[in-house]
Amino acid sequence: MEPSLERTPNEASGSPNIRLPPNLVERLAPARRVVVLTGAGVSAESGVPTFRDAQTGLWARYRAEDLATPEAFARDPDLVWRWYAWRRGLVEAAEPNAAHHALARMEALVPEFLLVTQNVDGLHARAGSRRLVELHGDIRRTICSRERCVVELDRASAHDEHAPSCPRCGARLRPDVVWFGESLPEAALQQALTAAGRCDVLLSIGTSGLVVPAAWLVPVARDAGAAVGIINTDPSPAAFGVEQVIGRAATVVPQLVRRVWNEG
Ligand code: NAD
Repeated sequence: MEPSLERTPNEASGSPNIRLPPNLVERLAPARRVVVLTGAGVSAESGVPTFRDAQTGLWARYRAEDLATPEAFARDPDLVWRWYAWRRGLVEAAEPNAAHHALARMEALVPEFLLVTQNVDGLHARAGSRRLVELHGDIRRTICSRERCVVELDRASAHDEHAPSCPRCGARLRPDVVWFGESLPEAALQQALTAAGRCDVLLSIGTSGLVVPAAWLVPVARDAGAAVGIINTDPSPAAFGVEQVIGRAATVVPQLVRRVWNEG
C-alpha cells in the first residue's frame, strides 16, 4: 500500500494539513479497543533526540546502541553514566509536545485504551497519560546494578561524572532502563501483547520498528484483524493492511484526534 500523504498549508495554524487515510479514520471512530505504540520520534519535537540524531558534539564518536548495553556499562560505567546524565538533562529540560497531549486526550475518548511506549523520558506521564506501559523503563529513575532496588539520587549525584555507588551494597548505580540485550519486564510486555492481539486499531507513532519485541505489536495486531496506522516522518516499506501517514507526530496526532472525535 502506498503511503498516503497530501500536504496543504493550513494558513490559520501555520502547520500543514495532513490528509488522513479515510479507512483509518473510519475504523478509529467506532473503535472500542485502541493500542498506541510510540517511539523516540514522538519526543523529537520536545527536543529529545532519537538515537539516530543523538550522537552529536561530544558523543559523535559513539553509537548510541553501543552505549546502551550491559557490556558497555561493565567495560566503562563512568562513560555510560555520563552519557545518561547528558540525556537525563535533555529530558528534564523538555516539555511534552502536542502529540503527547493529544494521546492523553485520546485515552479519555476510547473505552479500552492502552499506550505502550518505548520511550524512557517520562513525557507521556507528564502529559497526563495514565493507561500507560513504559516497556523500556524511565531514565529519570536510578537503580542498583546488582539488586535493582530504586535509589533516590540528589541532583548533584545525578549529574556526577562518575557512576555513584549503591548506599546499601556498594555496587554501581545505573539508570532504570532496558538496555539492548536485556529482557523487558515480563508483565508489561504481556500486557502490551495481549492488548495488541485484541484491539480494533493499533497506531504506531514515531518508531523505526527495528527494536524487538516492541515492534512485534504491529504484526500481532494486524494478524488479529486490527486496522494499523503508522505515523512517521519517514515512509516504512509498504505493507499490506497498514495505513501510513508521513508527517511529524506533533502535527498529525492532534489532527487525527480532532478529525475522529471532533476534539480540539
Ligand atoms: P528510533 O530512533 O529507532 O526511531 C525513531 C523514529 O521516529 C524514526 O523512524 C524516525 O523516522 C521517526 N521520527 C523522527 N522524528 C519524528 C517526528 N517528529 N514525528 C514522527 N516520527 C518521527 O526510535 P525507537 O523506534 O523508539 O527505538 C529506539 C530505542 O531507543 C528505543 O528502545 C527507545 O527506548 C530508545 N530511545 C528513547 C528515547 C526517548 O525516550 N525519548 C530517545 C531515543 C532513544
